[in-house]
Amino acid sequence: MKMDLRRLFDTVGASEPVGGCLDFSKESFQGYAPFQQPVQVAGKIENRAGVVRLVFSVKSVLSLRCDRCLKAFEKPVEYRFSHILVRELSGGDEDTEFVVCADGQLDLGELARADLFLELPTKVLCKEDCKGLCPQCGKDLNFGPCGCEKEIDPRWQALRELFPDLS
Ligand SMILES: [Zn+2]
Ligand SMILES: [Zn+2]
Repeated sequence: MKMDLRRLFDTVGASEPVGGCLDFSKESFQGYAPFQQPVQVAGKIENRAGVVRLVFSVKSVLSLRCDRCLKAFEKPVEYRFSHILVRELSGGDEDTEFVVCADGQLDLGELARADLFLELPTKVLCKEDCKGLCPQCGKDLNFGPCGCEKEIDPRWQALRELFPDLS
């Protein structure tokens, strides 16, 4: 999604819609590939009083796997991003909000990818109170208990031996 923004940079008051569909299905994140479905980008670039601002949203359905029970599930997401586009950084503009477009060129797909990856959850749960798998038998405890005996902390085990009446 490469764009030539020279006209926009040079024309105060100009604006242009941006958007398209990106394929990130080959991208992996923490060992899984969350973008099995297309990623929709839609937004606008506007030159207001010489300041060029890009605002866009990214929409997709993430294919995720629960960290606790390993169940695969899908989660629709939509994120909004905003950047000031500049042709070069002048001193003091060391802000992540600024995106440098050398020669007035912008790769919107690359920018959307970078923004999107920062938003991806590092901890994934199919639901807030997922009970996960039994570490002994591997049963999904969301479907009920498995009957394995609970592991006992060795320190408690020592106490138990000292006081056998304690249950
Ligand atoms: Zn789960
Ligand atoms: Zn078990």
